[in-house]
Amino acid sequence: MENIIIIGTGCAGFTAGIYTARANLNPLILEGKQPGGQLTTTSEVENFPGFPEGVDGFSLMDQLRRQAIKFGARVENAFIDRVDFSGETKLLFSGDKKIEAKAVIIATGAAPRLLGIPGEQEMYGGKGVTTCATCDGAFYRDMDVVVIGGGDSACEEALFLTRFCKKVTLVHRRDELRASRIMAERTIAHEKIELLWDSGVEEVLPDEDGKARAIKVRNLKTNEESEISCKGVFIAIGHVPNTSPFQGVLELDENGYLIPRGKSMVKTDLDGVYVAGDCADHVYRQAITAAGMGCQAAIEAERWLAEG
Ligand code: NAP
Repeated sequence: MENIIIIGTGCAGFTAGIYTARANLNPLILEGKQPGGQLTTTSEVENFPGFPEGVDGFSLMDQLRRQAIKFGARVENAFIDRVDFSGETKLLFSGDKKIEAKAVIIATGAAPRLLGIPGEQEMYGGKGVTTCATCDGAFYRDMDVVVIGGGDSACEEALFLTRFCKKVTLVHRRDELRASRIMAERTIAHEKIELLWDSGVEEVLPDEDGKARAIKVRNLKTNEESEISCKGVFIAIGHVPNTSPFQGVLELDENGYLIPRGKSMVKTDLDGVYVAGDCADHVYRQAITAAGMGCQAAIEAERWLAEG
């Protein structure tokens, strides 16, 4: 049986890995469908303390991984689809595989939210619809693209895409951006970015090859309908927590986030089960806060294991 299993390899998971490894707990970190988590799809991280020049998300996650492994953490690929925490031994299932642990830190993060409109799924991944400018931006060199959303992610994606694309239209459902002031100002001031306010995207329209050629947009104030030609549709409208394996096992809020308990904000109702990062935090959702929660969860787990 494992001492402690950490589910997830984002900032929260690897930080928990560093702390539990340094505490000689020999942690096993399980890597799911997105190794390194959301930061691996971010171009430049400018607000992680200690990097005055910024750091690209992939390098930062690679360094966290190496740091955890250096202290003895093991990283294995296993997507956990079901858990049973009813007994003293915690059971985790990845398909037919069963893993047993004394303690568990859930750091499964969140995944990009989609719009749920016609054409989105059909053209997702390779046919023009994507949620990752860092991954796919270069495919749209000298083309017109749209970014949907009004938060920091949408601004970041739009700004990143200006490096490659001819024109970036940012489509937002309201008439002001939710993004932080610095990101909003940069976005609004950029000569390659056009803002389309008060606009809901209703459909992604295909060309004869089944690839995106335009989006159908409705002005939510005037009800007027229009088409915007674009080869790329970048959706940046927030995230949904990756918590489905814990439904019915741990309490989730109405949006599916795990609900931390107690002053530490990383405990759950179950002894030996802790949460960290975006799967349990819909308020801050930062790399540094996820890392902080990973550290807290590791310390709590370590204390609980020492007592047992
Ligand atoms: P977010 O802040 O939740 O913003 C989501 C945006 O999408 C909002 O503008 C929202 O519109 C819009 N939206 C949501 N559902 C929609 C729908 N169904 N149709 C159309 N639009 C929809 O998410 P985020 O931008 O991913 O940021 C998440 C967190 O990460 C934030 O705390 C952010 O500060 C942080 N972050 C930071 C950085 C950075 O500092 N470099 C970069 C990326 C993200 P409304 O405004 O109308 O609600």
